[in-house]
Amino acid sequence: MKVLVIGGGGREHIIVKKLKLSKRVTEIFAAPGNGGIAQDATCVPIKDDAIEELVAFAQKEEIDWTIVGPEVPLTKGVVDAFQEKNLKVFGPKKEAALIEGSKDFAKAFMKQYDIPTAKYQTFTDVEKAKAYVQQEGAPIVIKADGLAAGKGVVVAMKEQQALDAVDNMLTDNKFGEAGSRVVIEEYLEGKEFSLFALVDGENVYPMVPARDHKRAYDNDEGPNTGGMGAFSPVPDLDPKLVEFTVEKILKPVAKGMKKEGRRYTGVLYGGLIETKEGPKVIEFNARFGDPETQVVLPLLENDLIQVIEDVTAGKDPQFQWKNGYAIGTVVASKGYPGSYAKNVVLPDLKANDQVYVIHAGTGQSQDGSFYSTGGRVLLVGSIQDSPEQAQKEIYQYLKRFDQNDDFFYRKDIGFSKE
Ligand code: AMP
Repeated sequence: MKVLVIGGGGREHIIVKKLKLSKRVTEIFAAPGNGGIAQDATCVPIKDDAIEELVAFAQKEEIDWTIVGPEVPLTKGVVDAFQEKNLKVFGPKKEAALIEGSKDFAKAFMKQYDIPTAKYQTFTDVEKAKAYVQQEGAPIVIKADGLAAGKGVVVAMKEQQALDAVDNMLTDNKFGEAGSRVVIEEYLEGKEFSLFALVDGENVYPMVPARDHKRAYDNDEGPNTGGMGAFSPVPDLDPKLVEFTVEKILKPVAKGMKKEGRRYTGVLYGGLIETKEGPKVIEFNARFGDPETQVVLPLLENDLIQVIEDVTAGKDPQFQWKNGYAIGTVVASKGYPGSYAKNVVLPDLKANDQVYVIHAGTGQSQDGSFYSTGGRVLLVGSIQDSPEQAQKEIYQYLKRFDQNDDFFYRKDIGFSKE
């Protein structure tokens, strides 16, 4: 079987690594991939949202299955385009991916189907938005309606911050079209967790929960990032809350989407927060999360392609999970999530038996060495019997990054309560 993975980050690298373990998969392609993915698959220089080129490539190579990593191609209709040519592809169609593509759509949908989430209102008018902020007071959360690469959310602890965020989005168009509408949301307090489910129509198959660390620095300080690390499962999470999330949130979403004529197939990612009133939805994503996937997929015993075939055939994939704890710590370029240097040579990245190395922003030089190409450069993960042991292995390995200060990583991944 020939499989194409669309994307070029850490999430796609772990998907490729997982596919490599399948006896049924004979060839793996990644578009565009990265320096590390090139060790495990054939990278093709097609951008992840160049839909026509991706379709043409899949037709020419007679690809049997395509897995879509990132959200942008999904919301642009990559699944629709593949299916029009009778190519098998795993992910939601454009109309279903709107659950991630428009926060206003997601909130209205949740309201209609009684799915627990923060109270909100949507605005396009700057003065009305500001009046609402003043009426509600801080803390309050301002969100760009559309996709903003994880940067369109401002959790404002002070009213002025919220007013500035409204101006940034509605007056200064900082997020372009994505920010021409804003969702203003009640601030929720509690521990967060992520739950992925593979969905086909009304069938929902939950995976193991994970938690990521969003802030740049130790003790959950500093700016929000795409994620500095993750762990799975989540020891302090009551299994009853997971059950509630599946029964009262994920299943009703699948059912409601079908009813709305937006039948959902693919990964449904629930970003949740444990409030005093129970779990509430922070956001939905229409694909695997990054970096949570880098700790969830290594725990999965099943063959990933078999799982996808089962789910899309209406069969329970019967997930089996490894015992143990997976932790993954991100190494980022100094300055991330602000500006940072690229093309910095990385130390030797050879893994040992106890850790795995997942590339996110790397390229490979002629001499075989790797260099950085992005803010989040790679993730080092480990599965052990205890979180403490996994941390020990990871931080032992990461010492090689301590020689100079080109890169940084958090020292408390797997510990913090975020
Ligand atoms: P998002 O991009 O929607 O995942 O939001 C980024 C982060 O902002 C989330 O992981 C939360 O930590 C935080 N956040 C989003 N919405 C809220 C909310 N209503 N209350 C508190 N924190 C929030």
